[in-house]
Order: sequence, then C-alpha cells, then structure tokens
Amino acid sequence: MRRLRKTPVIRELVREVQLQRSDLIQPLFVEEDLTSDVPVSTMPGQRRLSPSSVVREANTLIEKGVKSVILFGIPRIKDENGSHADAADGVVQRTIRQLKNEFDGELVVMADVCMCQYTSHGHCGIVRDGQIDNDETLKRLASIAVSYAREGVDIVGPSAMIDGQVKTIRQGLDDQGFKETAIMAYAAKHASSFFGPFREAAFSKPEFGDRRTYQMDYSNPDEALREAALDIQEGADIVMVKPALAYLDIIRRVKDRFSMPTAAYNVSGEYSMVKAAAREGWIDEKSAVLEILTGIKRAGADMILTYHAKEAAEWLG
Ligand SMILES: [Zn+2]
Repeated sequence: MRRLRKTPVIRELVREVQLQRSDLIQPLFVEEDLTSDVPVSTMPGQRRLSPSSVVREANTLIEKGVKSVILFGIPRIKDENGSHADAADGVVQRTIRQLKNEFDGELVVMADVCMCQYTSHGHCGIVRDGQIDNDETLKRLASIAVSYAREGVDIVGPSAMIDGQVKTIRQGLDDQGFKETAIMAYAAKHASSFFGPFREAAFSKPEFGDRRTYQMDYSNPDEALREAALDIQEGADIVMVKPALAYLDIIRRVKDRFSMPTAAYNVSGEYSMVKAAAREGWIDEKSAVLEILTGIKRAGADMILTYHAKEAAEWLG
C-alpha cells in the first residue's frame, strides 16, 4: 500500500475525496441595529455584522473562493408572533437585496427561514397554550420565505422542524410566482447541545422549555431518513443533516438512500471546540479543520455550512 503514499504528488493523484472551496457555505449573522461589527465571544473569529459591513464581508469571502453564504437576521424588535420576520424592510430582506445587487452571478445567497430570532419567547414558531402550533406556524414560515424570494434570494433554508414546512413554503413560493427559488430543507435537525455558542450569537435561546418537541431526538437514525423522505416528497431541492460531526452516519445514509444534493451543517459547538483547543495549543487548527471538513464530505455531504469557511478556503486556495 505504501507505494502510492510515497510523495505528495502521488498521494494527490490517488486522492478519492477532494474538499473544494466551492463546497463551503459561510453563515453570516446580520444585526439590524449595529453600526459596527461585534465579535461573538463564544465563537472566536465570528462577528455579528452590521448591515453596512455585509457587502464588504461577502466581497472578502468571494475573493477567497467561498461562493455561498446563508443569512441569519437579528432584528431590532421581537414579539410573540415574530411579526418582523417577514417585514419587507427587515434586516435579512434588505441584506439579500444588497448582496444580489452587488454580486449577482458570483454568490449564492441563501437565507434561513425560522422564527426563533424574531419571537420574544425564542421558540421557532407561534406558541399557543405553551405549545408550538404547527399549522399556524406554517403560514408564517411561507410568508417569510416569500418575503426573501421577493428580494431575489437563491435558496431558502427552512430550519424550524415544523411538519409540512417544505410543502407549505413550496406552495407559497409557487403561488407568488417564485418557481425558481430553491429550498434547502433542514431535514434532520437534531435537538443538540452543539448549538450552544450560536445562541449567544443570535440571542435565540427559548425562554421556556426546549426545542425537543420539534427538533429530532439524536437516537433515531431511521426517523432521520423518514424526515428526509418527507421533505423530498414535499419538494426539497437539497436536504440537510444538522449537526455534522456526531451525525456522519446519518449523512451517509441520507446520501445513499436518496442520492439528493446533501448538505451538512458543521455547527457552532463543533467550531468552537476546535477554536478552543487550538487556542490552548492542543491541536493544529489548520490540519484539524481540513480533516474535519474532508471527513464530512467523505461521509456524503456535497456542501458544508461551516463557520470555518473563510479560513478553510484560504488554506485550500
Ligand atoms: Zn428556529
């Protein structure tokens, strides 16, 4: 076996899985009220961006070879019903417009469709009597997706784990004439401890209870396949598994079963663990990140949402 490991060029010749910069999707947090960027303390290297600095950030990403971003908004006003999530002049809507005007054709603009950043209680939908009302929430999610499509978003990413969300959003988009807007479904999104650092970034910790009545139990891989099957049936163009590292088996099974474009979300906790260990000098960050991202791709992901996107692109370039 060692004959083909002899030199870097031979190793490159026989390499089976090649991580590419175009595989990477950078999540961006945009906060409505900011006049300058604020570092996210739990995610070293990540910032909450001011609306005025998003174009500059996207430009840097494009220069480094990252061609996709997914937007998360942090609004000025939150209320019970998350009524600002689909506002025509909302922070995500305005950011989509800016990015499409500036970089059309050079950048894939995606936007997360959920309510937890917009609700005062921090849950992903409309709450009635202490429970998330599934069907009331569906209408809101479709309305949010349509408001993004109006500004020209390429792909919407429903992440609420509300039953029927892909179908309702597809219907809503089609009814309004947005037949070309694609859906990347957070198909198997698990209730995970690895989301912790993101919550500090986006202020979206639920005020009561937790998200286990809608996000998946990580002990159920067959159920993850049923979730993906339903989303595909409802019209998903891309299916996602989230998180990635403790879920590589699920990524592989989803890819093998459905042969769909498959995304994996290398989440905040996975990012911050690497950053913390690197800061302590316990691991070499560059080689660890490339190994992790290649591992996620090897498991079957065609694309990876990752906070390491910018740095990894630099290292790959
Ligand atoms: Zn949510």
